[in-house]
Amino acid sequence: NFNQEKLPNWLKRRADVTPDRIALEFEDKAYTFIDLHLRVLETAGRLSGQGMKKGDRVALLIGSHPDSVIIIHACFYVGLEIVMLNSRLTNKELIWQIRDAQPGWILTEAAFTLKAEELGEKIPNVPVFFKEELNRLEKVPNFQALDEFSLQDTATIMYTSGTSGKPKGVIQTYGNHWWSAVGSVLNLGLREEDCWLCSVPIFHISGFSILMRNVIYGIRVILLESFKEKEVNQAIKERSVTIVSVVTAMLNRMIAELQDENYPESFRCMLLGGGPAPLHLLEECIQRGIPVYQTYGMTETSSQIVTLAPEYSINKIGSAGKPLFPSQLKIEVEGREAVPGEAGEIAVAGPNVTPGYLNRKEETVQAIRNGWLFTGDIGYLDEEGFLYVIDRRSDLIISGGENVYPAEIEAVLAKHPAIFEAGVTGMEDEKWGKVPVAFVVLKPGAALSEADAIAHCRELLASYKVPKKILFCSELPRNSSNKLLRRELKEILENKL
Ligand code: ATP
Ligand code: MG
Repeated sequence: NFNQEKLPNWLKRRADVTPDRIALEFEDKAYTFIDLHLRVLETAGRLSGQGMKKGDRVALLIGSHPDSVIIIHACFYVGLEIVMLNSRLTNKELIWQIRDAQPGWILTEAAFTLKAEELGEKIPNVPVFFKEELNRLEKVPNFQALDEFSLQDTATIMYTSGTSGKPKGVIQTYGNHWWSAVGSVLNLGLREEDCWLCSVPIFHISGFSILMRNVIYGIRVILLESFKEKEVNQAIKERSVTIVSVVTAMLNRMIAELQDENYPESFRCMLLGGGPAPLHLLEECIQRGIPVYQTYGMTETSSQIVTLAPEYSINKIGSAGKPLFPSQLKIEVEGREAVPGEAGEIAVAGPNVTPGYLNRKEETVQAIRNGWLFTGDIGYLDEEGFLYVIDRRSDLIISGGENVYPAEIEAVLAKHPAIFEAGVTGMEDEKWGKVPVAFVVLKPGAALSEADAIAHCRELLASYKVPKKILFCSELPRNSSNKLLRRELKEILENKL
C-alpha cells in the first residue's frame, strides 16, 4: 500500500532546505518559506493552547489570504483534520456540512462575522473562533510541531460541489495530497523559476492543491483574494507567473480582457479543468499560442488525475489526455472494459484517490470497487488511449433507446451567435420515454425564435438529439462553483408543465 509510509512535515522540511526562497506573494507582501514556518509555528502553538490535539477536527471558514495559508499549515503542524468550508454557501448548506463532519471547532475570520454568528447560534456545541483573536489566545509553552505526516492519516475533508446531488464529504489523506502533487509535477515538470498563480478558491481542491505543491515543490505562489481577469492577466504579464489553474468561465473572461495582446514566453501552462471545455475556446487558445493543458479531476482524486500534454493540444483537441504517471484509467460498460471509441463510465485508480466518503459507507462501497473509483462520469478512450469526457451519467437522457448527452446539445446551442449559454435536461415523453429540452440565455440585445434555435440544432445534430422545446430565460441555475445545475432545470420544467 502506497499510503502506509511517513514523510517529514512538508513546510518544516521546506523551510529547512530552502528557507529564503519566496513562498507566497499577496498584494504587496512576500513571505519566504522560513517566514511562513515561523508564523505557522506560532499559530499552531495557539491552536494547541485551546486544547486542539492530533486527530481532532476543525472546520475552516476562511478566504484566500496568507493568514489562511498559515492556518492550514498550523493545523497540519498540530495534526488536526481540516474541514474546508466553502464560504459562498448559504448558512443552511454550511450547517448541514458542519453537522455531517462534526468538527470540534470552527475557525473563521472577521469578514464572515455575520455568517459565523448565526452558525454559533444554530450549532451551539461547536465553538467559533476568529483568526483575529488568535493572537490573544494562550500559547502552549514549548509547542512541538509534528515531525512526520503519516500518509494514511486524514489531512482534509472536502465536500464535493453538489452538482449532481447533496455534497459528499471526501476524505483526503496526506498521501492523497502528496501523490497528487507528485503526479502533477511528473507531467508538467518543475523549473526553478516556476510560479503558480492561485485565483481559484482554496476551499476547493483546485486551489488547495496549489498550496500543497507550493511547499512540496518549493515554488513561489501568488495568491489572489478572488478571480479578476484583469489582475490575473497583469500578474501573468508582469510578475513572471508560469502556471495558472482555471475553469472555462475564467479563461473566457481572461481572453476577452487580453484583447489582441499575448502572454509572455515564460508563461508555460494554463491548466484548464473542472468541467467541459468547449472546442471553440480551445481552438482560440491554439490560435493565440496560449499553452492550454486540459485536465480532468475531482475532489475524490485530490485534483488532476488525467491531463493532456500540450504537444497533443492540436491532434487531440477536446481530449482530457492520459492518466498522470502514478494513476490508472479505464472505461467500463456493463461490467466489462469498453473498446476504443465506446462510451462508458470512467473509472480511475491511484494513490491520489480518496479512501472514501465521510459517514457514507454505502456510497463509498458503491463508488470504490476493487481499488477503482467509479466516477459517475461518462467518457471514452480513443485508439491511443486518450480520454474524452462526455458528461455525467446522472444527466444522461435515454430517448427511444438512444443515449443523448446534454453537454453535446449545449455546446451546439452555444455556437449560435445569438446564444450566450444553454442548459439541457430530459422531459418525459409518451412516445420516446424522454426527450431533450433546452433552456437558452440570449446574448444582450440578441433575438432568436424557438423555431430558429431548433433549426440550428437540426443542422448540427441527429434528429433524436434535437431539443423538442426551447425555453428562453435570463440565467441558468448554477452552484457556487459556477457549475450548471441540470437537476434544477428538471424541477423548473416539472413546475412549468
Ligand atoms: P458532486 O459530486 O457533488 O455532484 P461535482 O462532481 O461537481 O459535485 P467536483 O469534485 O468539484 O464536484 O467536480 C468534479 C467533476 O467535474 C467531475 O466528476 C466531472 O463531472 C467534472 N469535470 C472535471 N473535469 C472535467 C473535464 N475536463 N471535462 C468534463 N467534466 C469535468
Ligand atoms: Mg462529483
